[in-house]
Amino acid sequence: MAAPGFYVTTAIPFVNARPHLGFALEIVQADVLARHRRLRGDEVRFLTGTDDNSLKNVQAAEAEGVPVRQLVERNAEAFAALRGPLSLSFDDFIRTSSDPRHRPGVERLWRACAAGGDLYRRRYEGLYCVGCEQFYGPDELSRGRCPEHGTRPQQVAEENWFFRLSRYQDRLYGLIADGELRVEPAARRNEVLAFVAGGLEDFSVSRSRARARGWGIPVPDDPTQVVYVWWDALGNYITALDYGAGGAAYGHWWAGGARRVHLIGKGILRFHAVYWPAMLLSAGEPPPTHLLVHDYLTVEGHKLSKSNGNVVDPVALVERFGADTVRWWLLREVPRLGDADFTVGRLVTRANADLSGGFGNLVNRVVGMIHRYRGGQPSVVRHPAPGTERLVQTCERVPRLVDEALSKGDFRRATAAVWSIVDKANRCIETVRPWKLAGEGAAAAERLDAVLGVLLSACRVLAAELTPFLPDAAARIAAQCAGQELARGADSPRQVSRETARQAGSGSAPLPPATPLFARIVQED
Ligand SMILES: [Zn+2]
Repeated sequence: MAAPGFYVTTAIPFVNARPHLGFALEIVQADVLARHRRLRGDEVRFLTGTDDNSLKNVQAAEAEGVPVRQLVERNAEAFAALRGPLSLSFDDFIRTSSDPRHRPGVERLWRACAAGGDLYRRRYEGLYCVGCEQFYGPDELSRGRCPEHGTRPQQVAEENWFFRLSRYQDRLYGLIADGELRVEPAARRNEVLAFVAGGLEDFSVSRSRARARGWGIPVPDDPTQVVYVWWDALGNYITALDYGAGGAAYGHWWAGGARRVHLIGKGILRFHAVYWPAMLLSAGEPPPTHLLVHDYLTVEGHKLSKSNGNVVDPVALVERFGADTVRWWLLREVPRLGDADFTVGRLVTRANADLSGGFGNLVNRVVGMIHRYRGGQPSVVRHPAPGTERLVQTCERVPRLVDEALSKGDFRRATAAVWSIVDKANRCIETVRPWKLAGEGAAAAERLDAVLGVLLSACRVLAAELTPFLPDAAARIAAQCAGQELARGADSPRQVSRETARQAGSGSAPLPPATPLFARIVQED
């Protein structure tokens, strides 16, 4: 039987500015899931892209005095270019203003909902935040201001198309309560359930063409209106699968039983947990299966946002500190729930403690001892060595812990599990004291062999488990502690699978000499 398909997406960001660290968090998380599932043998498709058809983009272009298309193209390039610096492995990148797959898909979804009787015209008046591209009820504002942007929404009155969201209240509630659509973490699931239980109102799904300055996708059969940018943007998850043309990819990755996983920030939960599944149900299509919701990053205590000018450029951080360092901070420090504060000081402290001081130091120590006591020749473990039991147990448990944590989108717990190998291995070395066994000569030779074998095997498990999180560092660790054997067996030079880690036999080719794997970062003021 074929392995189950795993389709994972990021939200597509507005491109009114260059990418910031908050989006790097989301796309790195998605990358970890994609790499992890590939290593587990699943068929994986990983999509990201840009939301080009927003009024925000129109306004940003007007402010700069450049054509919208030009601004959108320039910034979309910057998003696609995150791939190299952040070591990303996405399979597809969709741009909603220019990808030929997109518009036919949006139109098809629109017509399918119209055919179901869920679209109607109505005059509407309300408070609109262009930053969010959504209407707010007066009770949803905080002191008259948008809760996300802190700006005063505009009063907008026009005739629009509406979607009969109210029809789907019970089905949506059931879907989420039964876990058919899993929302993680539980606090976010409860938030959505409370929102749905509070009653759903129909929402406006088009804008006047004049207000949109003609930018966006025209409503099918109504050229006076353009499709609401959120409708348009949510559609990307299936238009990229060729839904518009009835392509095979759609049947395979969406309608055919694959897991359909969206990574999103908490601010757009309602769009993904309520509007999007309802649109799909209306069109007779299956909803997503998982929503993994992250909170926000702040930078030195301030909210990170493209609109407020406080940005941290992920590419500049990678140029200065390396992809491993930036990825590790995002994955190891950001909690499942609650905002995380980024500072360069925290990034450096974490990297020095965990990368050079943790992974690098352990691998160096182990490989160094194998060279010192065994001429670089990995030894064969014939008997369990006293003092190594807890490390052996940890190495056996970690793969399962990583799987569990990642199934819930808990990257901090997953990386903590990987880190526990380092912790247990260091304790094992302190307890067993291999240098003392070496001093006892032939009497302790077999025990020393066993201890070194267990430690080397722990380093190999570390390389395998670290691969989805830090593909570059994991490949270096693998090369250091398994030589050719592990690198050859890997799916690609960047990936070390659990299988190859286990199979890398002891007693094989000698290890390369121990070399530093991570430079310690010295911070200048
Ligand atoms: Zn807003």
